[in-house]
Amino acid sequence: MRNIILFGPPGAGKGTQSAKLIEKYNLVHISTGDLFRMHIKEQTELGKRVKNLLDEGILVPDSITIDMLEEEVTKNPQASGFIFDGFPRTVAQAEALDKFLASKSSTISKVVQLDVNENELKRRIAERQKVSGRADDEADKLIKRIDEYFTKTIHVVPYYEQQKKVKLVDGIGDIDFIFGEICHAIETVK
Ligand code: ADP
Repeated sequence: MRNIILFGPPGAGKGTQSAKLIEKYNLVHISTGDLFRMHIKEQTELGKRVKNLLDEGILVPDSITIDMLEEEVTKNPQASGFIFDGFPRTVAQAEALDKFLASKSSTISKVVQLDVNENELKRRIAERQKVSGRADDEADKLIKRIDEYFTKTIHVVPYYEQQKKVKLVDGIGDIDFIFGEICHAIETVK
């Protein structure tokens, strides 16, 4: 199995690159942000519980997020691998994911960290807001999301560095060029 974590701050291009990766490697894409938005749209119980958190750009509690993620993986028993996009966002989530995959005799293959500086993130999300209309893309909510990233999520990197799984890829430049770099990172053994 090939299990890839696509890691990076809001606006780093995880969604764009995931779409290209699933096609090339025949993987199942799991975006926890997309799943939460789907629950909110369909007004499920889970959706009602998390709506305010998403609107404010605050992380959803680990237990809710982990349960949802595990359910989604379990729904795809035939998958030849997964791209985890927006998960794990805390060390507790990373530990839970490792345990869960181990229970299925599987593991994370690579963590691709997309590197984009804060000014470029703000510029991209301001652009995206014009078309997405996402409440959490508004300037003040975005500041909260970037803050959540740099206070909570960034600690996931050393967790996987200990396992020697992290590959840093420059996330600024031509989309296809970045895609090539990601593929290279995924395919190199070390
Ligand atoms: P971004 O475009 O900022 O990367 P996502 O679409 O991945 O955002 O996620 C949107 C929101 O969904 C987050 O701000 C957070 O409220 C919630 N969320 C998504 N994934 C997680 C997670 N792994 N843990 C906690 N909350 C999450």
